[in-house]
Amino acid sequence: MMRTTRRAFLQGGASAALLSAPALAQGRPRVVVLGGGFAGAICARELQRGDPRFEVTLVEANPIFTACPFSNAVIAGLRDIAAQRFGYDAIRAQGVTVVADPATAIDPQARRVSLQNGSLLLYDRLVLAPGIDLRWGALPGYDEAAAEVMPHAWKAGEQTLLLRRQLEAMADGGTVVISAPANPFRCPPGPYERASLIAYYLKTTKPRSKLIVLDAKDSFSKQRLFQAAWQQLYPGLLEWVSLSNGGKVTSVDPKTHTLVTDFAAYKADVANVIPPQRAGRIAEIAGAADATGWCPIDPVSLESRVQPGIHVIGDAAIAGAMPKSAFAANAQAKVCAAAVAALLHGETPPAPKLINTCYSLVAPDYGISIAGVYHPVGGQLADLEGAGGVSPLDAPPDFRALEASYAQAWFRTITAETFA
Ligand SMILES: Cc1cc2nc3c(=O)[nH]c(=O)nc-3n(C[C@H](O)[C@H](O)[C@H](O)COP(=O)(O)OP(=O)(O)OC[C@H]3O[C@@H](n4cnc5c(N)ncnc54)[C@H](O)[C@@H]3O)c2cc1C
Repeated sequence: MMRTTRRAFLQGGASAALLSAPALAQGRPRVVVLGGGFAGAICARELQRGDPRFEVTLVEANPIFTACPFSNAVIAGLRDIAAQRFGYDAIRAQGVTVVADPATAIDPQARRVSLQNGSLLLYDRLVLAPGIDLRWGALPGYDEAAAEVMPHAWKAGEQTLLLRRQLEAMADGGTVVISAPANPFRCPPGPYERASLIAYYLKTTKPRSKLIVLDAKDSFSKQRLFQAAWQQLYPGLLEWVSLSNGGKVTSVDPKTHTLVTDFAAYKADVANVIPPQRAGRIAEIAGAADATGWCPIDPVSLESRVQPGIHVIGDAAIAGAMPKSAFAANAQAKVCAAAVAALLHGETPPAPKLINTCYSLVAPDYGISIAGVYHPVGGQLADLEGAGGVSPLDAPPDFRALEASYAQAWFRTITAETFA
């Protein structure tokens, strides 16, 4: 497909002379941002807003983005999936070139991104924000075909709807089993918010049912708050099985809907398998991921420690103490945009401070949160001591209701800032 934009697009057969163009293109530095999710989309906007002379191109595989935050409410039947969907028109209108095509290869030496449609994009700086991919096969029995039977619903969209349909089709008295992975993974409180909201659905529509969370960990984010709420709201309905109590799922069998641990086999009517994860595959292709599958970065510039000229933000990055959240992705995106702009202007990026807040719903009007502030210490993003915290354990119902409304407000704000 031929492209004729003012950007530096090259077709597959472009000449070597063009490909070895100087790093700064005639005073108009080219920045390619790969991945138009919570990290990449806002980073592209901030870059374009920060210096209109930059030629910013956002490469995103899908024309419409489907957000994960609040997708647990879709699964529980509390929200329509349409409320999760966002387009890129406002970003385009701001002057960013948005390309809806998957990137298939990155050549860090030539500073070049290849797209599936055969186009090549040259960059002076590349921002990688591809989110996560699932480690198919890391949990024996769990591959792409198994996910059609035992959905992960850890990338929002069809998987979210599949899990919803399965819950709707389940008879009262059925058993739902969730398998939660070991750290690190996208959205540390996510499996427990999901368990809470599915428990809410079961309690209100199928009260003879049971929900079991099989966990590869002994502790999890906001644990005391979640467990206190479960005791209060879902006694006898929701059971959490820790690693020490045999919760780690070692294999699954999609044919029989069974999750196997070292101690027992759990037959589920609905099985939600959240498998181990890694940075989006393009990060590995770019050579930016290390043996862990995630991307080590400098905590000041968020530049890859292994591929100079490539910055990594969002879930794909190893961001020290920062969790893999949309809030964190947004904070990193802004720091990264400022750092990339500074570097392109020949300046040194300043040491940043970043904030994260993760809200979770335990029921529609029952919210809890955890917040943190992070700064570079010893080559990592570390907790700023004394900052941050979690919701109080003994808060009254109106406090929980207020936090639930804060969660909604946060989602409205971040999606408006990113996509509207
Ligand atoms: C159930 C659930 C609930 C959650 N709830 C919350 C919450 O309440 N609060 C919160 O802060 N976070 C929450 N999260 C976490 C949040 O969704 C992620 O942390 C966030 O999406 C990370 O942003 P990202 O930009 O790194 O990745 P993403 O938002 O996934 O964006 C990555 C983008 O890159 C694109 N991409 C990947 N590879 C390519 C390629 N090769 N070419 C082109 N495009 C590519 C993808 O299509 C995708 O659009 C939740 C997650 C889940 C699963």
